[in-house]
Amino acid sequence: MKIQSFGAAKTVTGSCHIVKESDVSVMIDCGLFQGKDEESKNSNLGFNPEEIDYLILTHAHLDHCGRIPMLIKGGFKGKIYCTKPTFQLARLIMLDTAKIMLEDYKHNLKRRLRYNPKKTTEENILNSNKSNSAHIKNETHQNNHHNTHNTNESGKNESNTNAELLYNEIDVFESLDHFNPILAYNTPFVIDEKHNIAVEIQDAGHILGSSFVKLTIGDKSAIFSGDLGNKNKPIVNNFSYPDEADAVYIETTYGDRMHKSFADSKVELLNIIQKTINGGGNVLIPSYAMERTQDILYVLKEFYKSGELPKCKIFLDSPLAINITDIFLRNPEYFRKDELQLFTNNNPFEIPYLTETRDIEESKEINKFSEGAIIIAGSGMLTGGRMLHHLKHNLWRKENSIIFIGYQARGTLGRRIVEGDKTIKVFGEHIDVNASVYTINGFSSHADQKELIEWLSALKNQSKTKIYLIHGDDDKMEIFKEKIKPLGFNAYIPSYAEEITVE
Ligand SMILES: [Zn+2]
Repeated sequence: MKIQSFGAAKTVTGSCHIVKESDVSVMIDCGLFQGKDEESKNSNLGFNPEEIDYLILTHAHLDHCGRIPMLIKGGFKGKIYCTKPTFQLARLIMLDTAKIMLEDYKHNLKRRLRYNPKKTTEENILNSNKSNSAHIKNETHQNNHHNTHNTNESGKNESNTNAELLYNEIDVFESLDHFNPILAYNTPFVIDEKHNIAVEIQDAGHILGSSFVKLTIGDKSAIFSGDLGNKNKPIVNNFSYPDEADAVYIETTYGDRMHKSFADSKVELLNIIQKTINGGGNVLIPSYAMERTQDILYVLKEFYKSGELPKCKIFLDSPLAINITDIFLRNPEYFRKDELQLFTNNNPFEIPYLTETRDIEESKEINKFSEGAIIIAGSGMLTGGRMLHHLKHNLWRKENSIIFIGYQARGTLGRRIVEGDKTIKVFGEHIDVNASVYTINGFSSHADQKELIEWLSALKNQSKTKIYLIHGDDDKMEIFKEKIKPLGFNAYIPSYAEEITVE
């Protein structure tokens, strides 16, 4: 068995691993590279899609599913196996991404025409784009703000103006024909009898329907962790534990650190909401559309039920997040077992104070609320989305609060606000940051260092298992590698496209 990684090798995004045995190839995930330093890698897959026989998808995050339409465009003819919610969520994510890419592409085209109208025509820009690098903006494909395109804080699009369109909605629809969402947890499934290929997935506890995968071909086996979840979250189960394999590929996103507990983070959230709403202000929560938003809604409902939530208006101002929440409601069997009873009798996201705003006009109406509102909208790092409009209307008022519940990458507007910038630019306008700024860490969807070690430690026959560290920044992976060495784990960090032989 040989394994090559064409993404998430010494980086966090672009998860994509190919397992080869004699004349058959199985891919685990086909994710998009994200972020300014990585996205140029998207234009070149690095392998021939025609040579891949099967794809196993661990979960629906863009950095795990976002290159699937390119795989199909490139000639992949096989089936894509995953769980039912992974298929339903990945469908939304890929369609949303195709839409954003088209908006960015059109916007960039116009910019180039405006910038140098005498030298360029629409036609030759289109031609020149064919050989250039690709770009997708924004960390979690949030979309549908008041205007059409993704904008940075100054109202300008940061996209590479030479960007090529990686795929369109038609390519996504063609990809959907390849999906076979029949995998179930703890149920081994033979995907190829001739080559003796079996797949067994278990709950990764990361987002709805997420899994880690054990792939067996003949007498060799490898486990791929996908992304492992932070334990004790409200909706998804805690991760299951691996049994044994010849090779284990484990994500290391937070291999260097520990999270605050979820229980403490909930208390922190409630305190900020009470203080702000009772003090005559609004609360802004920039949020990822998938899982994070549902976690927040769930917790707000808990506060409501316990009588701790002050009377307020809650706005979920993201069509994508609303659609994703609907998919959660269609898959109650994937909820935590201990919460299932509560779920079957109630909609866990339904709060009397909640208004979902799909239309732009409804979204604009939110501006009329100068106090008593909790506004949840994308994007999580303020790289685009409807939240930018709410910043403009709320950030200058000292009565208001903004709460960051996710990681803020370097170079994003979210990061600048967290680091204390006193003035920001939104849509070309300077806005003072007079609102209180908070960061709450315990809502992360990723396992921390302690949990990753706990998961690894469940492996049987550890001395015979080779560990490979993926899906992490170089320095964090080195820290994790050293941390697990005294525990008897001999880990290796593979490079992009490096061929690993599983003995
Ligand atoms: Zn993920």
